[in-house]
Amino acid sequence: MRLDKLLSNMGFGSRKEVKVLLKGKAVTVDGEVVRDVAKHVDPELQVVNVYGERVHYQEFIYLMMNKPQGVISATEDKYDQTVIDLLDPFHAHFEPFPVGRLDKDTEGFLLITNDGQLTYNLLSPKKHVPKVYYAKIEGVVTEADIAVFSQGVTLEDGYHTKPGKLKILVSGEQSEIELEISEGKFHQVKRMFEAVDKKVVFLKRLSMGALELDPTIELGHYRELTSAELALLK
Ligand code: URA
Repeated sequence: MRLDKLLSNMGFGSRKEVKVLLKGKAVTVDGEVVRDVAKHVDPELQVVNVYGERVHYQEFIYLMMNKPQGVISATEDKYDQTVIDLLDPFHAHFEPFPVGRLDKDTEGFLLITNDGQLTYNLLSPKKHVPKVYYAKIEGVVTEADIAVFSQGVTLEDGYHTKPGKLKILVSGEQSEIELEISEGKFHQVKRMFEAVDKKVVFLKRLSMGALELDPTIELGHYRELTSAELALLK
């Protein structure tokens, strides 16, 4: 890979800005000052330093965001702020995208990455990756609903969902539940409850596969996954 591309990818500015760094003798490769922007380096084998600090090259980034309401799960939108707009320039530079969609009014765990293969594996209907949601429901959720959900629910368009594991946390005029599903149909959780005449009034995703949302991440904030967390998704 060209040295200027590598440094630009790692957040050291535009190619023009990187050129200034190189001309200023700030960059060494394997201990030698390099001023040639087009020099080819192998980031796996060679040691690149900027002002004496090692540059750890990474091709992919994996971010866990606690998505807030009011923000769109997309890379761009004409009218609304997107989850990508919440990233700092260093992370945005990797051109990541959200893995699947949460509705504008849904909160919680959103994985954001530029790893297309992982995205495919997590979203492929064949892989049945479980997702757990917490929801507040207008109406009394009952044992009968648990039984219905366990057989799959027929949505208003005739689609019969895969079984969902429904757990009642609070049953009352406004119930609180957790639901595990292994598909990602449009508005799926809301439509499953509509099918049993109940309304989701608050929805938050808690986990995807074996990975749970870190409860210390505040709404609208995110952090990179640790390698142990990443291994849980692969
Ligand atoms: N199901 C929904 O209805 N909305 C979401 O955002 C996610 C799952």
